Amino acid sequence: MFFKKKKKDINKDPFYREKDGLVIYLKCDRCGQVMSFRILKGRDFVVAYDGRSALMIDKLYVCPKCYNQISLKAGFKGSYKPVYFELNGARFITEEEYSEQKGG
Ligand SMILES: [Zn+2]
Repeated sequence: MFFKKKKKDINKDPFYREKDGLVIYLKCDRCGQVMSFRILKGRDFVVAYDGRSALMIDKLYVCPKCYNQISLKAGFKGSYKPVYFELNGARFITEEEYSEQKGG
């Protein structure tokens, strides 16, 4: 059997890799709005000193529809592989879910 692309498991790694950084797709806990955010290499990442990750992000987003605050904290290895992540105010969705709901 052949598979074009391995299905992404966002429970393990919700970060989509791009040339300049990572992309995440979120769904607001309060109003259900879907949104996407870019996390840029060299701008959004800071060096981590927690002993388990090399880089970290600590971001605060606001839902454009209901102004719900969404916070994201995550630690990464040098290869941008997530070690841990914590999201409050929204949940991760897949790119497919995002484009489906954005279109509708
Ligand atoms: Zn919202």
